[in-house]
Amino acid sequence: MPGYIKQNKIDEILYKADIFSVINSYITLNKSGNQYKAICPFHNEKTPSLIVTPHKGLFHCFGCGAGGNVINFVMKIENLSFVEAVNLLADRYNIQLEDYNDKALMEKHNLNKRLYSINKDAANIFYKQLRYSFQAKDYALSRALTEAILREFAIGYAKNDWNSLLNNLLKKGYTKTEFLKSGLGNKSAKSDTIYDKFRGRLMFPIQDISGRVIGFGGRTINKNDNPKYLNTAETDIFVKGRHLYNLNRAKAFCQDYLLLVEGYMDVVALASAGIKNAIASLGTALTTNQALLIKQYNKTVYLSYDSDAAGVSATIRNAQFLDDMGLDVKIITLSKAKDPDEFIRKFGANEFLSLIDKSVDVYIYKLNQSQKAYGAKFDTDENRAKYASNALQIISKISDVIRLETYINYISGISKIPKGTIKQQLEKYKQGDIEPIKFQVKQKDEPKQGNITAQEKIINILSNNSEIYQNYKYKLKNLEFKEGILKDTLEFIIIAYENNKIFTPSEYISLLNNENDVQYISKILLDNKFVDKSQMLGYINIVSIDNINKNIADTKLKYTHALKTNNVILANDYLMQINELKKSIEIIKGGAI
Ligand SMILES: [Zn+2]
Repeated sequence: MPGYIKQNKIDEILYKADIFSVINSYITLNKSGNQYKAICPFHNEKTPSLIVTPHKGLFHCFGCGAGGNVINFVMKIENLSFVEAVNLLADRYNIQLEDYNDKALMEKHNLNKRLYSINKDAANIFYKQLRYSFQAKDYALSRALTEAILREFAIGYAKNDWNSLLNNLLKKGYTKTEFLKSGLGNKSAKSDTIYDKFRGRLMFPIQDISGRVIGFGGRTINKNDNPKYLNTAETDIFVKGRHLYNLNRAKAFCQDYLLLVEGYMDVVALASAGIKNAIASLGTALTTNQALLIKQYNKTVYLSYDSDAAGVSATIRNAQFLDDMGLDVKIITLSKAKDPDEFIRKFGANEFLSLIDKSVDVYIYKLNQSQKAYGAKFDTDENRAKYASNALQIISKISDVIRLETYINYISGISKIPKGTIKQQLEKYKQGDIEPIKFQVKQKDEPKQGNITAQEKIINILSNNSEIYQNYKYKLKNLEFKEGILKDTLEFIIIAYENNKIFTPSEYISLLNNENDVQYISKILLDNKFVDKSQMLGYINIVSIDNINKNIADTKLKYTHALKTNNVILANDYLMQINELKKSIEIIKGGAI
């Protein structure tokens, strides 16, 4: 199965795999105007809220937000990755994906094949070496790694030798370049000598979701060796942010939930104790790719990181990130052990599983951390007030009212401040009346403003009509859209029209990497209502005025600064600019433009 798919192949699939017949082969579509409606297969519902618009090649569910093009639909319903879904559709519609004429692509493909193969051979060599090393076997035993577990995780041993692996691989026909590119070897900067990167270490093969070995984690077996853990550096096939250790095995055991831990030793310790659904992030900060990967298998995740300060901050960061990405994430707090590995060895699996009942979500976790910081018993009113102020900040970005209610109850229960007071303070805080105490909180999306709706409408109208673009192109080019997907989409449409190309929504969707973007933009593009030109001008004006207001706010800041620094001439300049900007708003409002 090819891992690289060129955009023209994706376009061909979008052209041939007609969205109506593909979706209709899974669920029943009923005609409704020039669209189709169906009961959504991705959430429970009685009345249909999934819409399919064949001429745009898009679908969208107004119930659960699922949406995108035909590839996104197949990914979701078949539980496949993007590449797998493309391959499935290519098979079904007889589209040849591999283009052997493309030399560079083939070379890359061939090199990757060699990298998979060299990693697999290295894993076998390490595995055999473990059988013959008493020292390594003793060490494995001391970590409670049984023969069965060593086999299950294909754990091996890298000899404490500079050339052992290199020589073994050269004998198997690999080149020194391939050895270096696989990340298994290093090159000395002084003498150009090539040598084994992993020496005297227990070796944990890292596999991708389909089980191919893509890299290694090595743990030293000698107390004094540094670093304790050493991983393969990123290679063409080992991109850390795209993989999760052990997901290839855990996916068969994750019907109820997944357990997310920091390191492979934790995963292996949990598996030794019969807990097989643990995965490890291969770095501290999770990526969007990893979150989407987890979400494909189960939305419920229990996170159990190290209990030290670094572990706590990684916990907050990653749990908040997964929560923002729409996963249902709970945090397990370990006591009397520094990590799950140690906890399991000290107290066993049942004790660990009982911690799941005590797990809390990221907001409660943050509130608890805050309570710890300001004195658990609130012995002074000052501490109580600080806790309350901090607590408001923690919950201020939550838009889900039911969740918010839960946290307000929680804060009230702990601080003995009446719920009504907390709600009042929260409103004030949101309006910016209360100066917050500094505390790191990840930014969530701001509530939607008229300006954003106007931007969405503009994109929708433009996507349907290149003529309208010609009428308003000079105005459109001067508009500042919201940084991110809205701005990117506007730019993409403008470039397409400037080059006399048609804008094809489903093709555009196929260029987006982020599932949230796919769903959001599909919904905007799918809106089918007829819009007349005067509405377009109205929306452009809303965005223009918002842009000018931002400009005014910026200039006011500069004006204040100039006054403070006694730069009267500059201040006067700014004042004039502000007046000009205000005038231009009046002109727009008066319809003179
Ligand atoms: Zn739905």
